[in-house]
Amino acid sequence: MEIEYVKAKTLKEKPAWDQNLGFGKYFTDYMFTMDWTVEKGWHNAKIEPYAPICMDPAAMVLHYAQETFEGLKAYKTKDGRILLFRPEMNARRFANSNRRLCMEVLPEDMFVEAIEKLVAYESDWIPTAEGTSLYIRPFMFANEAAVGVHPSNAYKFVIILSPVGAYYPEGVNPVKIFVEDEYVRATKGGTGFTKCGGNYAASIAAQVKAEKLGYTQVLWLDGVERKYVEEVGTMNVMFKIDGKIVTAPCDGTVLPGVTRDSIIHLLKSWGYEVEERHLAIDDLMEAGKTGHLEEAFGTGTAAVISPVGELNYKGEIVTINNFKTGELTQKLYDTLTGIQWGNVEDNFGWTR
Ligand code: PMP
Repeated sequence: MEIEYVKAKTLKEKPAWDQNLGFGKYFTDYMFTMDWTVEKGWHNAKIEPYAPICMDPAAMVLHYAQETFEGLKAYKTKDGRILLFRPEMNARRFANSNRRLCMEVLPEDMFVEAIEKLVAYESDWIPTAEGTSLYIRPFMFANEAAVGVHPSNAYKFVIILSPVGAYYPEGVNPVKIFVEDEYVRATKGGTGFTKCGGNYAASIAAQVKAEKLGYTQVLWLDGVERKYVEEVGTMNVMFKIDGKIVTAPCDGTVLPGVTRDSIIHLLKSWGYEVEERHLAIDDLMEAGKTGHLEEAFGTGTAAVISPVGELNYKGEIVTINNFKTGELTQKLYDTLTGIQWGNVEDNFGWTR
């Protein structure tokens, strides 16, 4: 891919390089941009100064929400190497999202190359304090100026970067989860398996409701019967019940998380049985009340692993592992973050 480099006149002052960087607050000096049109295909690849994007008020994304995105991180190791974690998985998921929304599909090797080039160019923006990383946000949107619902004939692909702090500056801590039985996130035949902006727009009402009730996130149930457990907020979710790990299958409604897949590989390599199956919320609550639910945790790029300490379903409350981080949850967190930051040997060939 031929990339034009456009120099910035001035560079930004970098924020304090510590664990309190927060999430998604600061953006680096440069971004990657590339256009697609029916006539020219992919063209105009640039690494240019981070700046507002000029667009027509009739740009189709603003009306019909043809927009998809991804999220992954770059890590700096103690010996100064820069690691990406399984970016080819994000490339594939991005292509699947774009296909579902009838958007142009970005070739997977171009997706990875664009990330590698931008991250290398901005490598002095990767923070080094314990637990910090550079969050990578690729996204694509419909850029044709036209009103009327149809697949756009122009798209823009952009990557921006944000140095982020440790998700848990004081160590991994359990969260309280509200089981949502009114709003739904996804249903069969919908867009649940994609990372499209519309999914997140539709989820905000439930998030706001849960926060008002003092909960961090919602646990989504299936969209048909509100009977089966699907995901937690923007994470996949796993339950350790009688020594086995249970998580929802990726059959259309759940986002196939890169962290989820990695955790399943780790668990199987340690000899655990992992069941990818539909788990009824009633059975989960029952397991919680009778002491069979040993641990529960969300998995996702931002937090990596987020232990669940409490579930509230229709006012009934189950506390998990005395609201403490479980032994397996902690071991998974330590191992996966160890691989990502280059401190634990990567036997799976996940980092590059
Ligand atoms: N589910 C949803 C709805 C998400 O937004 C995310 C974050 N991308 C995940 C699960 C976890 O995916 P990953 O492990 O790839 O970050």
